[in-house]
Amino acid sequence: MQVKKRTYSILVLLVVMVVLIGNHSILPQENDNKKQEKIQFIWPIDSEDLSKKISSLFGESRGDHFHNGLDISSYNEPISLIGEGKLIYSKYSEDNPFEEDLGSGNCIWFSHDNGYQSAYYHLKEGRNYEILEKISIKSGEVFARTGNTGHSTGAHLHFVITKDGGKKIIDPLRVLPKVEDNYPPDIKQLILTIGEKYSVIKNNESLNVSRNFPVSVAMNDKGLNKAHRRGISSARFIVNGELTKEIRFQEISYLNGKWINEDNLTFDDLYFDGKYFIGNLEFRSGENKIEIIASDFYNNRAYKKFTFFINKIRGKY
Ligand SMILES: [Zn+2]
Repeated sequence: MQVKKRTYSILVLLVVMVVLIGNHSILPQENDNKKQEKIQFIWPIDSEDLSKKISSLFGESRGDHFHNGLDISSYNEPISLIGEGKLIYSKYSEDNPFEEDLGSGNCIWFSHDNGYQSAYYHLKEGRNYEILEKISIKSGEVFARTGNTGHSTGAHLHFVITKDGGKKIIDPLRVLPKVEDNYPPDIKQLILTIGEKYSVIKNNESLNVSRNFPVSVAMNDKGLNKAHRRGISSARFIVNGELTKEIRFQEISYLNGKWINEDNLTFDDLYFDGKYFIGNLEFRSGENKIEIIASDFYNNRAYKKFTFFINKIRGKY
């Protein structure tokens, strides 16, 4: 009897442990560091307040596609090559003055060791032949200046890092030295979309719903600059205690005619009308909870819980 009792106690202990560990996995973790690549480059723009100048991040929504690089607000500043490389492509408006500008403005691509490429867009007029005609260009050599060519809202450098001949695009922060940023993202509103109508779900609100509707969340990452509305790097969505989705923006790959992230999620899986898409959620009657953990690239984390009440009704909505 004594043995049986002990076995029972051990079993209970095991179950409790499994439940605790299981729950723990959806709570903020310290060890989900973003993928750092082995190779490290230098920043293309050398500026003291660089962190404040990074105005857009990798993976943000651009309506119907991902923002595939990092934007640095800048005009007429020297751009240094991020690592030793070779010119693979350049296009300036001077090449064909009669051609309509496609939006990217003047741009230059380089190849680097280990299968990386770097690309620079919206460059100021005036190709630097002296540098670009070299067989190999050294790390840190200035090859262009930042400008405002092509379609851009304000002068900035759009900066892209690709691998595998351009089929994989990665978050440039993965190969660049850390910049100062100790601020977590800002989780703002939970949004329920019914047809053309958006409803912001307020805390402790009661809602009448008849079926599943798309639920999304508005959030951004200001970093050091309060004027910025940059994208987040990853998030976890926990609906009524269950981890239902994790979204990450560390790389996108071109596969079967579509860009997908590292979890095989497409743009439409990740965004709903420009907001982060949690899912077409089926709520239970009564109290419902959605918890969100959002993180920037440097693992500054935010957590927010939304609680609301669902009254299931019959009918159109
Ligand atoms: Zn950009």
